[in-house]
Amino acid sequence: MADGLLKFRHCGHEIFARAVPERCPRCGRPAVSSGRLQDAPVAIPSPFVNGHQASAAFLLRPTQGSFLKDYDGNSDLHVGVTNTTGTVYHYNETGIHRDDLGWEQCVCVPLIQPSMFGLINQWDRYLEECCASEDWLPCRYDEHDHNCYTFTLTFVNCILAAQERKQLSKCEFTERFVLPRTRRASKYISICKEIAGNNFYFLDCSDKEEMKSQAAN
Ligand SMILES: [Zn+2]
Repeated sequence: MADGLLKFRHCGHEIFARAVPERCPRCGRPAVSSGRLQDAPVAIPSPFVNGHQASAAFLLRPTQGSFLKDYDGNSDLHVGVTNTTGTVYHYNETGIHRDDLGWEQCVCVPLIQPSMFGLINQWDRYLEECCASEDWLPCRYDEHDHNCYTFTLTFVNCILAAQERKQLSKCEFTERFVLPRTRRASKYISICKEIAGNNFYFLDCSDKEEMKSQAAN
């Protein structure tokens, strides 16, 4: 559990740490004193997934480095899509690539439901067909208008078309599927950074009420 985090409640705070300390870093009393279930430490699952173990998924990672080590909130991001065996297909200024390494820490959006057996059998063929288009020649690449995101979204829409479902715009896809996960990932990264510097991250329970009301709005 190299990047595992856990959370426990004490003296009006939620405290995030790598491990439960003997004494609460806020008040100095024993950290796990109460028998109340709501105060028991809980593991916070990492929002990152090994993309090579995620079949038929949309993946997002920093263009350089990794989210937990290198991402500063403004770094360039790169996206791709996996086939059914975890090879990542992606497009950049040198064309289409098929990677079996390098996508070990990603934000991941699964693209199909377990019930879609028919589709999974066709997935790799659709992906190869999409890659074969001249749209993805290196000379067609444009950093803003014809990039990694254009490629993955074109493929997502090709899959939706095959199922006779409505196409998604970049904006719809991002807002519905990507942003909820990237928000969670940014929060996790900031907690990890705080813990790397100070061993703990504190959330006042009043802050938490505020976050809840913000999330509800
Ligand atoms: Zn305390």
